[in-house]
Amino acid sequence: MTDRSDHGDGDPDATDTDADGPQFRIETTAIHAGQQPEPETGALMTPIYANSTYEQDGPGDHRGYEYSRTGNPTRTDLEANLAALEDGEFGRAFSSGMGAINTVLNLLSAGDHVVTGDDVYGGTHRIFTQVYEEYDLEFDFVDTTDHDAVRDAMREETELLWVETPTNPLMRVNDIAALADIAHEHGALCAVDNTFATPYLQRPLEHGADIVSHSLTKYLGGHSDVVGGALVTDDADLDERIGFYQNSVGATPSPFDCFLVLRGTKTLPVRMDRHCDNARDLAAWLDDHDAVSRVYYPGLDSHPQHDLASDQMDDFGGMLSFEFDGTLEQASTVVEETAVFTLAESLGGVESLIEQPAAMTHAAIPKAEREAAGLTDGLIRVSVGVEHIDDMTADLQAAFDAALE
Ligand SMILES: *Cc1c(COP(=O)(O)O)cnc(C)c1O
Repeated sequence: MTDRSDHGDGDPDATDTDADGPQFRIETTAIHAGQQPEPETGALMTPIYANSTYEQDGPGDHRGYEYSRTGNPTRTDLEANLAALEDGEFGRAFSSGMGAINTVLNLLSAGDHVVTGDDVYGGTHRIFTQVYEEYDLEFDFVDTTDHDAVRDAMREETELLWVETPTNPLMRVNDIAALADIAHEHGALCAVDNTFATPYLQRPLEHGADIVSHSLTKYLGGHSDVVGGALVTDDADLDERIGFYQNSVGATPSPFDCFLVLRGTKTLPVRMDRHCDNARDLAAWLDDHDAVSRVYYPGLDSHPQHDLASDQMDDFGGMLSFEFDGTLEQASTVVEETAVFTLAESLGGVESLIEQPAAMTHAAIPKAEREAAGLTDGLIRVSVGVEHIDDMTADLQAAFDAALE
């Protein structure tokens, strides 16, 4: 496992300086990148520039901002902060993760083909099949841990390989460097949805990805109080095209939403440390438990891609799933009975959440198909929060007892 304080720099004890100024470790970057005291007053925090338009000194002669869909200073600071976290050059913020994903699809044209994972986020599957297939884009869903299957799916018209890692809810880990190579061999872009890992644990651009996508709603916002999205790239041409669609389509975040996410990213490193520690302890507790038949967590030695996760990620994250050894109804009782874990969709906030994919997020999939994909009736997914671990295990034990009564 690499030292996670060694961010974008071979020597953890040194900071390097390049043409853009000093580069800091991620704990420092999270707090300071894109943030300067407001020059007029010295106000430390980026103000919420709640306005739609800007005075011009002469027609077309403006001070960098004309109209807030096109640019807003609160958003500029957030975009600089997000780019720095991913060790990327260019960041763009959107009004949701789906707004960001939509913008990547805007880069494509009718007739283009996309290869992606067979276990991508439900909203991603929906925009691919129910929105963009109508616009004559074609999609192939394959097991992206099987590189031969990915290679076989690539065609002359393939312009995008869309990768998630770790995936939801079975926490499969995909090899970003290998997949980016396959995409590039075929002249396609490789985009990675880094929502689950966050840049604190994994920086896809370092592994050859062209675009990193985020739902800021999750760990980057971190407090379950804002919906947002982002794209980060190192490629100026790509960024210019992304910026064109950001402005043309208009799924841009409000200045207040940008402020909330900036407030969240400052504590990303400290929150993630606790998320990871708690998830590691909870995975071990569940792994030892008689009422649990299987635990899906990349930090466990038994995880099929544990070695890859150890290389690619700086720690294993706060998301895990487990199989409760009981019926669909008993597993439903578990998720209903917990009190520290709130029964809810979404993830990445400071509070622990619990859900049952077979009865909730994946209920629309026929049972046989669901089971074949590993989404059994007893499968329970948790977003491990930053509460005390002993309160979490006691809460789950009480819920298990109630379910098995
Ligand atoms: C939530 C999520 C999205 C969509 O983001 P929104 O902010 O809800 O639009 C995309 N990808 C992943 C992995 C997610 O968890």
